Amino acid sequence: MSIKTTFAGLALMCLTITTYAQSIQSPDGKVTATLEMAEGGKPCYKVSYEGTEVLNASPLGVNTNIGDFTQGLELKEVKENKVSQSYDLRNIKQSHVDYEANEAVASYTQRGNVVMDIIFRVSNRDVAFCYKIYPRRDNRVCVVESEASGFSLPQGTTSFLCPQSKPMGGFARTSPSYETSYNCDEPVGKNGWGEGYSFPCLFKTVQGQWVLISETGTDGNYVGCRLLNMQDGNYRIGFPQQGEMNGAGSTSAAIALPGQTPWRTITVGPLANIVETTVPFDLVEQKYKASQEYIYGKGSWSWIIGMDNSCNYDEQKRYIDFSAAMGYQSVLIDAFWDRQIGYDRIAELARYGKEKGVGLFLWYNSNGSWNDAPQTPIGKMNNSRIRREEMKWMHDNGIRGIKVDFFGGDKQPMMQLYEDILADANDYGLLVIFHGCTLPRGWERMYPNYAASEAVLASENLHFGQGACDAEAHNACIHAFIRNTVGSMDFGGSTLNKRYSADNQHGTTRRTSDVYALATAVLFQSAVQHFALAPNNLTDAPAWAIDFMKTVPTTWDEVKFIDGYPGKYVIMARRSAGKWYVVGINAEQQTLKKTITLPMFEKGSTLQVYSDDPQLQGSVKAVKQNKKQQLTVTIPCNGGLVITSK
Ligand code: CA
Repeated sequence: MSIKTTFAGLALMCLTITTYAQSIQSPDGKVTATLEMAEGGKPCYKVSYEGTEVLNASPLGVNTNIGDFTQGLELKEVKENKVSQSYDLRNIKQSHVDYEANEAVASYTQRGNVVMDIIFRVSNRDVAFCYKIYPRRDNRVCVVESEASGFSLPQGTTSFLCPQSKPMGGFARTSPSYETSYNCDEPVGKNGWGEGYSFPCLFKTVQGQWVLISETGTDGNYVGCRLLNMQDGNYRIGFPQQGEMNGAGSTSAAIALPGQTPWRTITVGPLANIVETTVPFDLVEQKYKASQEYIYGKGSWSWIIGMDNSCNYDEQKRYIDFSAAMGYQSVLIDAFWDRQIGYDRIAELARYGKEKGVGLFLWYNSNGSWNDAPQTPIGKMNNSRIRREEMKWMHDNGIRGIKVDFFGGDKQPMMQLYEDILADANDYGLLVIFHGCTLPRGWERMYPNYAASEAVLASENLHFGQGACDAEAHNACIHAFIRNTVGSMDFGGSTLNKRYSADNQHGTTRRTSDVYALATAVLFQSAVQHFALAPNNLTDAPAWAIDFMKTVPTTWDEVKFIDGYPGKYVIMARRSAGKWYVVGINAEQQTLKKTITLPMFEKGSTLQVYSDDPQLQGSVKAVKQNKKQQLTVTIPCNGGLVITSK
């Protein structure tokens, strides 16, 4: 077979005659990946959805210090396999997954030696590929300097992306920490702030197909990657920036051979595919067994309203009482607890919490030597011996988990630190939340005690500035389609205070409604949630809101996308056991009015509907569903919607 493919972009040149083409289809036939060989022995691939090309010919291959495996390759053989797996995970969007894919393993030789396989997996929503590099003569290790892995989007595609920060910038030189704003529906061709974009990256083609590009399976054996724009719609995998970790360490990945790289994932089709995909978890394996059954659930957290000063003994005791009153499982004690409370009195609080059924999460600084973040405890998580001593103390005092903050980027030693913290924490029965951190890449399945990561402009920004409050609904309407679809997101939201201060009279003003707070408790997925509720909400918030927040689940069995558009509005549903929660939020000036079909509820059943009036005053009503199982709903700007069965 001989196909002529041409496209722009000198740096990505994959043009001229292909000598070979092989298609791999998804089990349902909708997704097709086509593997080709361009002139010069350059492997490349294309992706189509229902016959429409969503990725044009895009390059493949890796450049290593034992050889350049992006060109001069010959295809030796392609082996095709069917992959069929089932797995259960309580801490992702869907508790049971049946994964079916068609796999092609293409083996390449260079000057007669087998050097590399490119492994493709095509499932009903996703294409994924990775590289397996083989030893050469006496070389049993190699350094991957760069990847050719490209993503060439068709002309006219628009992008929904957040720029990767330059290193050693922002608060206490802690960037990049995946805390930048998205630009929605922007033409392709820019390269962020010069350093590309953080994963995951969402695109929309002219034909209205969506493409979500990300990666999964990254651990201490590789680097965390980003997406660089080369020209027009041509993107390529980028490695970390030299300046990360204060310039220490290399940007490349050192691997033992034979060695497999993380997976590059491409989710395609309608927005339902983007929201419902499980590809980050389908492609990875558990790396160790859980040392115990971990307790997920809800908690409270004084810092978001009271900031550093609230990390004192009395206030934390008050929050333990508050969590107990809400029926919550935990309290998160943020930075400076070591100075402002001390280890002995933390142990006292842990005992007090235990009596009330409330476990403690403790904050730690990840440093180390990678940035200037001054918050304490510091110097406890970056060294194995000290970390394990600290974790033993936590285990002996019944601490539930840790929140580790201010990581140093995506170089390989930093990815190893994430993995080491997780593995050690599992030995001591601790759940782990990361903040100021990279994107989790399949970690819910790889590490059974992994709870969640920030890697988003989270609720702290609502306290820090009015601009974030004003844009709160807009940003929330993005996360369901991008950040949160690939991994648990520790946002720390669902505020019921009107103002971000302990007296509820000062500070930034919340623009969103109480029903919005309830809706985002379901919309934002993480098996462990520390909500931004405050003890005063027991008396100053509507009883229906508090009652809902007492019972809302944090683990889910199923997710269904209903309607929405990134940055504008979203309506989706999650199921926990036999109960569905349909939730919606709207960021558009105009009130959203939609007739939605809700087959998940029994015909003619009475539903509990939480909604807002035009002044954002919320209420809850019993509404009978019509025979067509349809309901007309309205959501004002900054308002919310929640529908559950009675
Ligand atoms: Ca942060």
